Amino acid sequence: MSVNKQNYQEILSQLQPGGVTLVAVSKIKPVSDIEALHALGQKDFGENYVQELLEKARAAPPGIRWHFIGHLQSNKVKYIAPFIHLIHGVDSEKLLKEIDKQGRKNGRAINCLLQVHIAQEETKFGFDAAEVTALISKITAGELSFEHVNICGLMGMASFSDDLQKVRSEFEFLAALYKNLQAAMPSFNTLSMGMSGDYKLAVECGSTMVRIGSLLFGARIQ
Ligand SMILES: *Cc1c(COP(=O)(O)O)cnc(C)c1O
Repeated sequence: MSVNKQNYQEILSQLQPGGVTLVAVSKIKPVSDIEALHALGQKDFGENYVQELLEKARAAPPGIRWHFIGHLQSNKVKYIAPFIHLIHGVDSEKLLKEIDKQGRKNGRAINCLLQVHIAQEETKFGFDAAEVTALISKITAGELSFEHVNICGLMGMASFSDDLQKVRSEFEFLAALYKNLQAAMPSFNTLSMGMSGDYKLAVECGSTMVRIGSLLFGARIQ
């Protein structure tokens, strides 16, 4: 078991004044780590892989709010649709349609964030700013509607870089886009940005939800 209590308390004390939500990223880590952090009062946990999430959700204590933060394939939505609290990485209209379909089947509206590509790296998934703006316009114009999806906001990952100026400008870009779209989308209440290495900067730039793994559970050795 390896949960860093001191880091947990320190992170909470930094997040609480601004009402920022902490999602504890437990990917690769054992259920015993989830139990240990849950025992300290943590309710929100994030996972990247559907199979791993399903196994952990079965084994972990009840009452946890599960977040899916990885890249979600359309054919796997059905497995998490009955219980997922928030899907962070929605990166296509096709995926939104599938989530809507599975939400309907389960008689619920599924909370989602649209992932926006803000880093320079080519490999990151997500919409670009123009695409996400166009999508929101179609929704507000009534051309597209997702009755069983609740689009709560945006998610993004900054460049993995020591260049704080660059990381800051990426976060500021996403925060400005979020504010802009929020004017048209009253359901927007979540801006998910910030990880172990950059969460303080993300919060300074307006994040409302951070996703932190290694500071809480130690480095992941794969
Ligand atoms: C793994 C992961 C995190 C947590 O990363 P840490 O650097 O360990 O805090 C956050 N967000 C996403 C999307 C991840 O895949």
